[in-house]
This record gives sequence, C-alpha cells and structure tokens, in this order.
Amino acid sequence: MSDCIFCKIIAGELPSKKVFEDEQVVAFHDIQPASPIHVLIIPKKHIASLADAGEEDWNMIGQIQRVAAQIARELEVEESGYRVITNIGANAGQIVHHLHYHLMAGARLSPLGV
Ligand code: C5P
Repeated sequence: MSDCIFCKIIAGELPSKKVFEDEQVVAFHDIQPASPIHVLIIPKKHIASLADAGEEDWNMIGQIQRVAAQIARELEVEESGYRVITNIGANAGQIVHHLHYHLMAGARLSPLGV
C-alpha cells in the first residue's frame, strides 16, 4: 500500500534499524521504544491487522512468532522474559494499520489491562 509507513520501511523508502529479514517477514527496532528492547516484527505482505488475516496467512503468522522467539534468544532476553503482542483496532491502541507484533523486553513490564 503506497501510503503505509511499514510498507515504505519494507521497500527501503524509509530508514529502519533491521534485526531480521527473510522472504516473508521483517523485524526492526521501534522508532519510539516503550521498553529498553522494543522490536517490531511485521509481514512483508500488507495486512491491516490480525483481524484481516486470511487462510493463506496463518503459516506466515506462525513464522512471525518463530522469529520473535529467535530474536529474543539473540538479544539474550529469553531468561529474563519478554512480551509479544499485537494490537488490533482502536480500543487496543493500534496506530499503524499494517499487522505488527511488538517484542518488548529489558525491564519488568507493566501488567496488561486498562
Ligand atoms: O500497535 P501500534 O500501532 O500502536 O504500534 C505502532 C508502533 O509503530 C509504535 O510503537 C511506533 O513507535 C512504531 N513506529 C515505528 N516507526 C515508524 C512509525 C511507527 O517504529 N516510522
């Protein structure tokens, strides 16, 4: 999508600090980290959110989870713990409408909730 900020990052039209890339998935450091380690893992395919995933996308979404676990291992936060979440829609605070998973670590994270 031409006006999608994450599609522009994937296309190399906007800079990012990439930590992983394969045929289907890209991961990069969040531009405004909300925790000491804050990485976004996104599909190269434009999907607005998890709610918009189709039958053909579930393998790739599984790959995103695998990549999250791999990055956590590489960044050595496996033992201390980390969080992987995706926000879907307004109530969850989704700002960028291109599916993304937040990998957050490096501190005691606040509990989930309102
Ligand atoms: O889940 P949500 O849509 O709220 O998260 C979007 C995330 O994308 C934010 O954490 C924001 O800092 C990040 N972002 C980024 N690079 C951009 C634009 C947004 O890392 N160019």
